[in-house]
Amino acid sequence: MADLPLDAQRRLRSATAVRGGWGRYPRATMSAWRPESPEDAAALLLRADGPLLPVGGLRSYGDQALLTGGGAIRMLRLNRFLALDTATPAVECEAGVTFGELLEVLAPHGLSVPVSPGTRFVTLGGAIANDVHGKNHDRFGAVGAHLDWIDLLLVSGEVRRLTPSGTPELFAATLGGCGLTGLILRARLRLQRTSQAVEVRYSRHDNLEALMAALVEARNAASYSVAWLDAVAAGARLGRGVLETAEPAADTDGPRASDRWLALPFDLPGGLLNRWTVGAFNALYYRRIPVGGRTRRLPLARFLYPLDAIGGWNRLYGRAGFHQFQCVLPEATAPTGLARILERVTASGRASFLAVLKTLGAEGAGHLSFPRPGFTLALDIPRRPGSLELLAALERLTLEHEGRVYLAKDSALSAESVPVMYPRLPAFRRVLAEVDPEARLQSDMARRLGLRGGG
Ligand SMILES: Cc1cc2nc3c(=O)[nH]c(=O)nc-3n(C[C@H](O)[C@H](O)[C@H](O)COP(=O)(O)OP(=O)(O)OC[C@H]3O[C@@H](n4cnc5c(N)ncnc54)[C@H](O)[C@@H]3O)c2cc1C
Repeated sequence: MADLPLDAQRRLRSATAVRGGWGRYPRATMSAWRPESPEDAAALLLRADGPLLPVGGLRSYGDQALLTGGGAIRMLRLNRFLALDTATPAVECEAGVTFGELLEVLAPHGLSVPVSPGTRFVTLGGAIANDVHGKNHDRFGAVGAHLDWIDLLLVSGEVRRLTPSGTPELFAATLGGCGLTGLILRARLRLQRTSQAVEVRYSRHDNLEALMAALVEARNAASYSVAWLDAVAAGARLGRGVLETAEPAADTDGPRASDRWLALPFDLPGGLLNRWTVGAFNALYYRRIPVGGRTRRLPLARFLYPLDAIGGWNRLYGRAGFHQFQCVLPEATAPTGLARILERVTASGRASFLAVLKTLGAEGAGHLSFPRPGFTLALDIPRRPGSLELLAALERLTLEHEGRVYLAKDSALSAESVPVMYPRLPAFRRVLAEVDPEARLQSDMARRLGLRGGG
């Protein structure tokens, strides 16, 4: 980089540090560059000597946004709003804009994003690179279904405007493409007109069968649906949980989201979350909902991002960090498959108190999009001796039930499973061979899972 003009070098400032994803495992020593303009980003791509990877809010859990020995291109300063079309409605913005920033800018216009992941710190670029889904996938699909175009900076320095019909292969490889096709600079996202508050209905269900039946009933009837599941309860109570469904509130003003977000300033001792403490917490959490259910009005942001209420909640699991496992199983195999997965988790004694069950609708448009019709289960698994064996068992169960594991959350999948779970991997690899034949863009996940192929 020594040949870059001095002011560009100062702007881009790189620091080498040990970093982890949101699960804080695994970790990687890598440098980070912070471009402030597309020109800075192009200069980096053209002049860096080692491998690079675009990264956003670092909210993927495992090693997807890590690159040992390479350079991360942090996109957070490329966060300008370019145009707001209130008629369509749609927004054009740079890829470093976060969902929190989107909501803030759109709310005064009575607008919102049609699809949102579960934290406001995800960037638009990161959301596209995983084709993220929200609590309304049955009705709205994933984020890729709402994009008019994406501007992609290729490693050659060329910027291409991708559309689903004009550049179908590169569009499908970039959507859910884990940052490997190029740097997403800008995109145009269609929006929805909505109230900034929701009426949330909570109901509790005694076991997995009842919870799944309630989700099926809600998937097309409610605007949003999601279930929290007690992943410690076993036997007759296996898979009991609380279903949340939500509808936009009638008046558009609604209560404003409170700015009082709490933060966890230190790591909790690793052993604090064990099957007894989590079991007690889960039982209380379950019983706080009366048998007949209850209704509450919440600001939209509070409903979409409940975990953001505790900043740095990933420190709950101590310094060792945690894995997140998220799979989707098809409708037909989900009842037995999910029961077997939960039995395996409860038998392991590993307490997961963040366990979420949702339904998913149509298959995603990206070659490596995660969504497909069925049920998706997400579990936190504290990192302790034996957790990798547990994850390997969950991977086998997912395969046996014809499901797939979500790459955004993964830190442990084996390379052999990827082509089975993601049958469009060969098409993805063909695009990479064309746009980045020298593999200038890399990640620890791409290396671990052999996403590029060719050994
Ligand atoms: C609390 C929490 C809740 C979540 N809930 C959901 C959910 O409900 N649904 C869901 O689908 N996901 C969910 N996720 C996962 C999250 O949405 C994805 O991991 C998302 O990709 C993270 O975006 P990011 O900006 O943090 O990107 P990073 O984690 O920094 O990077 C993720 C990937 O995006 C690529 N990338 C980032 N920016 C760019 C860019 N500008 N150009 C090209 N590639 C880029 C990176 O190379 C990497 O492959 C959740 C994560 C957390 C922590």
